[in-house]
Amino acid sequence: MKFVNEYRDPELGKKLLERIHRRSRKRARLMEFCGGHTVAIFKHGLRQLLPDNIEMLSGPGCPVCVTASADLDKAIALGRLPDVIITSFGDMVRVPGSRSSLQQAKAEGADVRIVYSAQDALAIARDNPEKSVIFIGIGFETTAPTIAASILQAEQEKLDNYYVLSLHKVCPPIMKAILDMGEVNLNGIICPGHVSTIIGSHPYQFIADEYKIACAVSGFEPLDILLAVDRLVEQIESGQPKVEIAYRRGVKPEGNVPAIRLLETVFEAGEANWRGIGAVPASGLQVKSQYEKYDAAKNFKIDPGPTLEPEGCICGSILRGVSTPRDCGLFGGTCTPEHPVGPCMVSSEGSCASYYHYGDSHGR
Ligand code: SF4
Repeated sequence: MKFVNEYRDPELGKKLLERIHRRSRKRARLMEFCGGHTVAIFKHGLRQLLPDNIEMLSGPGCPVCVTASADLDKAIALGRLPDVIITSFGDMVRVPGSRSSLQQAKAEGADVRIVYSAQDALAIARDNPEKSVIFIGIGFETTAPTIAASILQAEQEKLDNYYVLSLHKVCPPIMKAILDMGEVNLNGIICPGHVSTIIGSHPYQFIADEYKIACAVSGFEPLDILLAVDRLVEQIESGQPKVEIAYRRGVKPEGNVPAIRLLETVFEAGEANWRGIGAVPASGLQVKSQYEKYDAAKNFKIDPGPTLEPEGCICGSILRGVSTPRDCGLFGGTCTPEHPVGPCMVSSEGSCASYYHYGDSHGR
């Protein structure tokens, strides 16, 4: 399979691992920011292959997982309004909010539909002019340009029944927030691959300059990740942190300029609420006032009620890198992928789901 097999070549993998083992002397704590990396690392058993002095932590890069219960409650309350169709990516509908989930709201009569893109949601709006169609916009800089394009298209088509509830998040401010909290002492960060195809590698420069932490942007195949770890080890051992791209087939330093322009046409930076972290300034994307007729947050009156967190769930501290799923008393017992208590077990990119499906008995 072109563009896959060559990044899973066992001989090249062995050579990279030998080099990592040969060079790595210092204790190093690395965080993979992105949930896609967490899945790939577990699926290919990479943690077990790395030297014992390298510790891997998962970060807050799973968009479903970081969506706060209060925001989920808003989506559920919108779904309970008359003549509303909620459209959402699949994983979101199963995530429990304070008292319910979108899936439960659907079972109780709400019109909740799973879509694969904002274009699907637009099509539903076209087909149902008598209904208000609300797209639950989650994700990072990767998905936001396509949602921005859907709003521009709705404007072009003069669709007046399409709305977006923008729960989008952006990565660099949350990386800064986690580093400023000082709960995890990191030596290196595997920077997100998909996000970086949009924003490039420049926005991470402050991590190397101000926090003296090594950075490498990685793709999602095993050789991509091993190359990123190799680059981080090199920087850590030499004491020269910088930002390297170990995913050159997907990422340019300046990113995807037309996609950034598209995103900035429709959205502007605003405060976002992160599960387990709270409100972080400029870490979200809000619909600009110029496009507010498409902003679900501004056009519907709802009362989502008080926010409750799932009892016993420690997703928040897992997303900050402070705990691992093995620290949760509910892991694998009360909480499983079939009966998830928190979002990290629901999402296919969640740490708890990765540990459950691929982790070994030592929790690595
Ligand atoms: S195992 Fe379940 S309850 Fe525990 S942190 Fe993960 S999602 Fe939450």
